[in-house]
Amino acid sequence: MRTAVVLFTRDLRVQDHPALATAAREADRVVPLFVVDDRIRASGFVTPNRAAFLADALADLEEALRERGGRLVVRRGDVVRETMRAAAEAGAEAVHLGADVSAGAAARERDLARACREARVELRLHPGVTVVPAGHLTPDGGDHYRVFSPYWRAWSATALRPAFRAPQRVELPDGVDPGEVPDAAALARGKRSPGLARGGQAEGARLAESFIRDGLERYAVGHDALAADATSRLSPFLHFGCVSPAQLARRAEGRPGGEAFVRQLCWRDFHHQVLAARPDLPREDYRPHDGEWRDDDASFAAWREGRTGYPVVDAAMRQLAREGFMHNRARMIVASFLTRDLGIDWRLGAAHFLDLLVDGDLANNSGNWQWVAGTGNDTRPNRVLNPLRQARRFDPSGDYVRRYLLELEGVEGPAVHEPWRLDAEPRRALDYPDPIVHHAEAARASRARRAGDPDQASLF
Ligand code: FAD
Repeated sequence: MRTAVVLFTRDLRVQDHPALATAAREADRVVPLFVVDDRIRASGFVTPNRAAFLADALADLEEALRERGGRLVVRRGDVVRETMRAAAEAGAEAVHLGADVSAGAAARERDLARACREARVELRLHPGVTVVPAGHLTPDGGDHYRVFSPYWRAWSATALRPAFRAPQRVELPDGVDPGEVPDAAALARGKRSPGLARGGQAEGARLAESFIRDGLERYAVGHDALAADATSRLSPFLHFGCVSPAQLARRAEGRPGGEAFVRQLCWRDFHHQVLAARPDLPREDYRPHDGEWRDDDASFAAWREGRTGYPVVDAAMRQLAREGFMHNRARMIVASFLTRDLGIDWRLGAAHFLDLLVDGDLANNSGNWQWVAGTGNDTRPNRVLNPLRQARRFDPSGDYVRRYLLELEGVEGPAVHEPWRLDAEPRRALDYPDPIVHHAEAARASRARRAGDPDQASLF
């Protein structure tokens, strides 16, 4: 009788799960294991918003396993020790795991490999976190792609891996105590955003299907429109692996609108392969940054709380607080505003995003923040987004701003993006701040700081 452990991490599904499908095919008994990892909890990464989604995803995974005759076995503590203990208790010959890219994941794989070697247990790493595994594609003479376009060309020419069916039966070895699937409060304490999405594989599959049926076709033209909310909102499901990225790519490919959407999945893979090669990406500039960041607690607080006086920036920051989510275009606008207009270090913005985003993800968050701040993979690192122009272009009706910025609820026309242009009396009635910086001057100062011109840099 062969027994295997499948260690679930952020691949919380049974569909198209290479590690689970392989273990169920090769072994007679399978221990589907999730360890509430002390190290990840201590790092602060399990925030209340992500804990809520994770708890949903674990409950849903437990249900899918029960339908197949199994259970989710839950342990708490050091992930390597608990995995080896579960393997020893069940008499397992193999541990199966989805390979991942962050420094923490690499350390986990290294430590597991050592422990498995000592215990004479086979460790099997599987794909599944991205469409194309990180490191699978490399440019001539390099260990990873630094620029997106050539990566996209190589990625598009790569055949998608075959799908893995969910196992029909998952049999637990006798005598294994499954433990208890934790609820959100057991994973993290603190206040959550009121408008969080529900997590889990069933919800992810429903959302993915409805998006492919009703949303994909208009994605290419509509994905930047802030008020239309026409993107898939699948990012938290992809982050926690409730939806398989490869399965999503297979479903979208070849359909009208599919290419634009699949390109975004490629962006996700791109940042993952950068993080795999540069594990310090969340902390260190990917490319050298010229000039100094400014210390400005008051402006940083105004940005965080959505009180900058730029309605599109403030609406986006309120969306983040309310939903634990923000539209991609809005993320670019607020990140540019923080780093270019306010001159504040991208690391502070990225940390605030990670506090609240349900999809908060080291590869995508650090990669995108660095891209916008000009320290990352953008081939035009000096671009600065004008918040007013962006607002007029991507929220022409002002509906996005009014949806999240209740102070401007009744304001119509262009004034919704420039309330400072209103006459004195209606302006006073609004209870909305004046802009904390003048964009054109701030952008000039930002460029001067980079060019090292102290006279211009003092424009703030
Ligand atoms: P869709 O437009 O439906 O795209 C489908 C999927 O493609 C997304 O779910 C996501 O997995 C991927 N994707 C889309 N855009 C990008 C992108 N620019 N880079 C990488 N992958 C992408 N995404 C995260 O998942 N986690 C983060 O922590 C994160 N932080 C970001 C920070 C900044 C400053 C910026 C500019 C972007 C960030 N993104 C992050 C990328 C992007 O904003 C989100 O993935 C997207 O808004 C999620 O919405 P959606 O699922 O509706 O996307």
